[in-house]
Amino acid sequence: MFKDIVEFIQKIYQTKDFISLHEPKFVGKEKEYIEKCIESTFVSSVGIFVNKLEIKIAKYTGAKYAISTTNGTSALHISLLLAGVDEDCEVITQPLTFIATCNAINYCKAKPVFVDVDRDTMGLSPSALEFFLKNNTKVKNKKCINIKTNKIIKACVPMHSYGHPCKIDKIKTICNKYNIFLIEDAAESLGSFYKNKHTGTFGQIGTLSFNGNKIITAGGGGCIITNDKSLAVKAKHLTTTAKIPHKWDFNHDMIGYNYRMPNLNAALLIAQLEKLNNFIKNKRKLANDYEKFFKSIDYFFFKEPKFSRSNYWLNVILLKNKKQRDKFLDYTNKNGVMTRPAWKLMNKIKMFKDCHQLDLKNANYLEERIVNIPSSVRF
Ligand SMILES: *Cc1c(COP(=O)(O)O)cnc(C)c1O
Repeated sequence: MFKDIVEFIQKIYQTKDFISLHEPKFVGKEKEYIEKCIESTFVSSVGIFVNKLEIKIAKYTGAKYAISTTNGTSALHISLLLAGVDEDCEVITQPLTFIATCNAINYCKAKPVFVDVDRDTMGLSPSALEFFLKNNTKVKNKKCINIKTNKIIKACVPMHSYGHPCKIDKIKTICNKYNIFLIEDAAESLGSFYKNKHTGTFGQIGTLSFNGNKIITAGGGGCIITNDKSLAVKAKHLTTTAKIPHKWDFNHDMIGYNYRMPNLNAALLIAQLEKLNNFIKNKRKLANDYEKFFKSIDYFFFKEPKFSRSNYWLNVILLKNKKQRDKFLDYTNKNGVMTRPAWKLMNKIKMFKDCHQLDLKNANYLEERIVNIPSSVRF
């Protein structure tokens, strides 16, 4: 059966050579814009491309404001600072995520609290979230306090796993009720919509990533999106060394960060953004081909959740159990088809082992079974 799968993937990618999990495609005006950028001499954090990019991202996602960053991790870091996260705080997130989510929480000296995911979205479960808050916290002076640790639960960071939206409207309602600041880690879900609204625009803030493995890339880059003007102004200030604008004077009013995306990267990204809708169309067709094939051999292919339109960044199949998963990973990678398991759950990583964690049965179930299969655009 594994042999049939390898042959099918080779057939749809029309090659017997090595097939990677996800590679970027530069089929637009990338070279033209980069050349223009170099000619302008503005290759660093000032220039027309980076300004233009922010307008285009805001327009595409429907957010009022977009603030570019050096990467997705720095976008999360700044967002958590804007939420007021510090050493007295905890931040709820899901154990099934990339390490960047938890690293950013730790940059603010806070600790993550791990709440389970839903099996049908692979993202944070609103029912597990509500259960945790109801039984483990009290609200005092408009602050949500974890009774066990006495820390303030300041923010919640759900993630739209592999591009599939989580039940973000329900999560938002719960966060509002408990006075918790909602930051959506939409690093993987540019072009994914939930109930016709772009992921990352439900919470107070959403964050994007344009790393080389994401659906479009700036080489490295990220973005903060928000509808709140005051958050947007603060985000721009914090990402540009907190410099007070002045014709010639250097003055800064707080510790800021050098986190603005360079113009050179933005030039690349604008060309990529022009192709995004083509990429998504192509990837949705690929997902459809996979879906039909895996159905025919009675394998579980992960389809977009209810009320969602996914970008299908990375396609997911669920194997029967860990043993079968390991055999599959071994066979495919030996035979020139790159596949990968889910990330090790964050609550099992050395630095986060001692963090408050709830019953994580769905995350454990998924961790043992998820395999990502080749998902690059086919052209
Ligand atoms: C890619 C990614 C990020 C950000 O990564 P950068 O490499 O810093 O751009 C954050 N969270 C998740 C879930 C990601 O997949």
